[in-house]
Amino acid sequence: MLLKNKKTAIIGAGPAGLMLAKLLQQNGAEVTVYERDKDSHTRIWGGTLDLHKDSGQKAMKKAGLLESYYALALPMGIIMADEQGKPFFTHPITSENQYDNPEINRNILRKMLLDSLAEDTVVWDRKCTGLEVLNGKWLLRFDNNTQATADFVIGANGGMSTIRSYVTDAEVENTGTVIIHGDIPNPEVNCPEFYQLCNGKRLMAAYEGNLLIVNPNNNGTLMYGVIFKQPEDYGASFQDTDIIRKLLLERFTDWDELYKGLFRSTSSFRSLPTRKFSLDQPWKKNRPLPVTLIGDAAHLMPPFAGQGVNTGLMDALILSEKLISGNYETPDSAIESYEEEMFKYAREAQLASSRNEIEMREPGFSFEQLIVK
Ligand SMILES: Cc1cc2nc3c(=O)[nH]c(=O)nc-3n(C[C@H](O)[C@H](O)[C@H](O)COP(=O)(O)OP(=O)(O)OC[C@H]3O[C@@H](n4cnc5c(N)ncnc54)[C@H](O)[C@@H]3O)c2cc1C
Repeated sequence: MLLKNKKTAIIGAGPAGLMLAKLLQQNGAEVTVYERDKDSHTRIWGGTLDLHKDSGQKAMKKAGLLESYYALALPMGIIMADEQGKPFFTHPITSENQYDNPEINRNILRKMLLDSLAEDTVVWDRKCTGLEVLNGKWLLRFDNNTQATADFVIGANGGMSTIRSYVTDAEVENTGTVIIHGDIPNPEVNCPEFYQLCNGKRLMAAYEGNLLIVNPNNNGTLMYGVIFKQPEDYGASFQDTDIIRKLLLERFTDWDELYKGLFRSTSSFRSLPTRKFSLDQPWKKNRPLPVTLIGDAAHLMPPFAGQGVNTGLMDALILSEKLISGNYETPDSAIESYEEEMFKYAREAQLASSRNEIEMREPGFSFEQLIVK
């Protein structure tokens, strides 16, 4: 095994980093994950994730965690409604499709992966600020003045990764869409009508350039995202709760009260522009020591094809298989082969996401267009 007697450092305890740790550790590698969150209970921001059969679920299976994922995730189905709150399409859950892509809360997924790892695999409160080469090893620096060494480093620290420079000089780009997130705890009490309309399914609605996607049950909280083309005046004011609420009520003025009630019941919003880390530029050869990227750090994409986490889990699966296969003479050659393969499927996923993004911003867009595809 290429990693025998070598220290492997993974930066970031997101789904991709933890999955890679699991797949390497179960084959005897010495792996440490460095994570900036204070501890394992830190709430992870964001909606549920659904793992697809031909990608995310394959990695789960290899890790021996597929049954746990099915037990902890929720099959949800889809309901589409018009701007007046009238449902016109339902995709129900049946005994045939219940395992296709059930939704899992991000903290529950993290806990499931953590529980499968040896104790102390993850070192918390370690925000990596940079890497250097020192005496034939990687030196990792953290913002609390601690450091660590490793023979092999994998950047799995998400889309805004700051440790890409040994691998690529490419930069993250904005793709021109805004997502505003809101969550409503105890929706049965705080927005009962809307909660009933969802009927346990993810609700999607689109009207004249404004899109709404609602998940009524992200571990007991209703979460939604409002999506629209990034306005020219997008800036700091889009983080102010009162300004955002006013803006949403204006944008949704022709929509039924049911929708406006959602915005009124939300105590804080979070807005983010969609971003992409393009794979158009080839990555650097001749790195001083073995280093690569997986997950959003490698191929951040807007979340419009549901492929971000699935692609990251595929990275973990493919990179681990190459490192333990015995088919490569050096870690660098295994990394090169992983990157060659990853560039192909990750570019396809980015393309699918970009196509959907463009389509979704058309004024006449309806979510049915995506389902029919
Ligand atoms: C609004 C939205 C909706 C989405 N919906 C979906 C969806 O439905 N389906 C889907 O497949 N994908 C979706 N995604 C994308 C998905 O969230 C990501 O693709 C996925 O989380 C990537 O996993 P990751 O492990 O690569 O990175 P992350 O989940 O971002 O994890 C990175 C980890 O690294 C840590 N970290 C960051 N910087 C440092 C540092 N310097 N030092 C140490 N640790 C660090 C972070 O705290 C985090 O724990 C969505 C994304 C967004 C924004």
